[in-house]
Amino acid sequence: MDTLANFINGEFTAPVNGKYIENVEPATGRVYGEIPSSSQQDVELAVKAARKALPTWQAMPIEQRAELLFALGAAIEANLESFAKAESKDNGKPISAARTVDIPRAASNFKFFAHAASQFASQAHAVASQAINYTLRQPIGIVGCISPWNLPLYLFTWKIAPALAAGNCVIAKPSEVTPKTAALLGELCQQVGLPKGVLNILHGTGDKVGAAICDHPEIRAISFTGGTSTGAAIARQVAPQFKKLSLELGGKNPALIFADCDIEAAVNQLIRASFANQGQICLCASRIYIERSIYPAFRDAFVEQAQALTPSDPSLDSTQMGAIVSRPHMEKILSYIELAKHEGASILTGGSSLKLNGRCQDGYFISPTVIEGLDNEARCNQEEIFGPVVTLQAFGSDEEALSLANDSQYGLASTIWTQNINRAHRLAEEINTGIVWINTWLERDLRTPFGGMKNSGVGREGGEEAMRFFTEAKNVCIKYK
Ligand code: NDP
Repeated sequence: MDTLANFINGEFTAPVNGKYIENVEPATGRVYGEIPSSSQQDVELAVKAARKALPTWQAMPIEQRAELLFALGAAIEANLESFAKAESKDNGKPISAARTVDIPRAASNFKFFAHAASQFASQAHAVASQAINYTLRQPIGIVGCISPWNLPLYLFTWKIAPALAAGNCVIAKPSEVTPKTAALLGELCQQVGLPKGVLNILHGTGDKVGAAICDHPEIRAISFTGGTSTGAAIARQVAPQFKKLSLELGGKNPALIFADCDIEAAVNQLIRASFANQGQICLCASRIYIERSIYPAFRDAFVEQAQALTPSDPSLDSTQMGAIVSRPHMEKILSYIELAKHEGASILTGGSSLKLNGRCQDGYFISPTVIEGLDNEARCNQEEIFGPVVTLQAFGSDEEALSLANDSQYGLASTIWTQNINRAHRLAEEINTGIVWINTWLERDLRTPFGGMKNSGVGREGGEEAMRFFTEAKNVCIKYK
């Protein structure tokens, strides 16, 4: 049994209440570890440690702070294989994805924000011959970072790295479903000599330890990534304390496929965009709109490739598609597929769970599922499913495509597939999503603003946006003659 501990004040610490919750390997359905079921008392200890660490961390020369963050990134790289294995086991994702995407990206988050710490500048505004304003960008103090299970270490570090780079001390909570690599990160903090109390990692459930982090009056900012309803609950909870709040929430991302696109390239990329990480990436395409004249050709090619993608044991090097993260999540996805049938859909491929043999016989697997025949108002086209399920619909004109894409409570990401540069720019301007990819998907540059509109969130992460979020702006005005 792998028993994890909280990481508080630079030490691995059992939860004050002595309670634990089980950790399940999704590929096998078996419990393989336990994690602290932390409570408000553990948050109190973490805040105490962070409070004590804050003056030293803030006074540390930027170069030295940056070096520590860079060392953390390098330490993740040096342990890539063990981190990748842990991530794959904990989350169910293919080991190849953990090795090439999740863990390298977690390392580059630290390296990127190590550089950002040393490059971050603030503005000055001069009033000719009268006065000059300059803006100080000061750390907030103690901040809370709460992340989801789908890209566990990748999204955990995407918050922690800028928060630390900006000079804050952090209380962070990974998802209870995927705690392992966050625990391993604590070991690397010890190894590189991160001062005690600068980063504190608490395990447990959102309703207990997550809510206690949001509630603590000394934690002055919350950076949250997760579901929209959780984001709404957190916003309600922290509003009376006027905390800074960044919310990266759910999505229902449209892909617009025009007849003039490179169909082969679009099908290849859309297969990735739909089913990478078992469809459990907030940026995954879930509503695919296809210009009517190429609908049959696109659909048939897409379905053929989806059928070739068979889930298998995530620990095998050859696996392209792994397990769904948990039984409740698998059941939620399957219930949406049933709903789609009820709503009159045709299931073109997939549509059910998959039973594997051997080690994974009790694991949580769903075949890539492609659905057609639903109206845009159908719940399966409006609600986030967050699994390997996409719907196809035909459109007749640019205007119709845009109106279908924008007919959603969400506004996270979209993709547009066309060779017409004028159309691409026009639609990019008019589509209501925070991220637009044209003829590509998940082309990431860590400097760019990342986040969504409408129910997909508030605020942006990435590059300077993150450094701004994790600092308070203070304007200083000097009058002179
Ligand atoms: P949840 O909203 O269930 O949980 C996210 C995190 O918040 C978890 O650590 C969870 O704890 C914690 N939490 C739950 N309730 C509270 C609370 N009341 N107070 C404080 N913390 C709480 O999301 P999932 O983990 O299920 O992740 C999937 C969702 O994340 C999808 O909707 C997806 O779209 C979204 N997402 C958005 C991204 C973006 O950038 N916009 C990126 C990736 C995912 P625990 O679960 O351990 O109980």
